Amino acid sequence: MHCHICNKSTKSFVHEKTNIRYYYCKNCAYIFKSPELYQDFTLQKERYNLHTNDENDAGYKAYFQRFLDFTLPLVGPVKTALDFGCGASSILSTMLGENGIECAYYDPIYHPDTLDDSKKYELIVSTEVFEHLHQPKEVFLTLLKHLKKDGFLAIQTQFHPNNEEDFKKWYYHQDPTHIVFFTADTFRVLAKDHGCTFLADNGKNMLLIQKN
Ligand SMILES: [Zn+2]
Repeated sequence: MHCHICNKSTKSFVHEKTNIRYYYCKNCAYIFKSPELYQDFTLQKERYNLHTNDENDAGYKAYFQRFLDFTLPLVGPVKTALDFGCGASSILSTMLGENGIECAYYDPIYHPDTLDDSKKYELIVSTEVFEHLHQPKEVFLTLLKHLKKDGFLAIQTQFHPNNEEDFKKWYYHQDPTHIVFFTADTFRVLAKDHGCTFLADNGKNMLLIQKN
């Protein structure tokens, strides 16, 4: 199986406890579950509905605040943004609004009709989305089309430990809707291959790319 990010060949390993097969690309550190495990949106929605995203919940706001604390100082004074894959909630776009950034939001499951194809943004944010994507490279390229020149793409997804034994013990892939996994290096390769500059990551779960 070839890597869906950089097209190099992958090696696979099986998790002894779950029998799930994973494919690992040494070149870009991308890991993906065997594609027959990918779920359609209906199944994913059932699982998402188990989460209660109360917009007034202080913990939930603090969680997004950490993402904004990483992102906003690096991007400077942008005025327009898109929250891609916001889920049921529009809380992050509201918080961006409180920072003077007019933020649209889109979610393929909960808000499928809110994406204006003709619009381009200075900033696109996408938190806890990429680990659900069957085709992350294609979505990345779609997002680039919605970015203005010199625009920013800020992504949050948990970086995997990049070691087979540690990966197997890692909690993040145990969610059945989490199907693909990255490190900052995966996004470095994506950025370089598609004419972008990788600007920063926090070593854990956040990164920032600029479109050239
Ligand atoms: Zn790769």
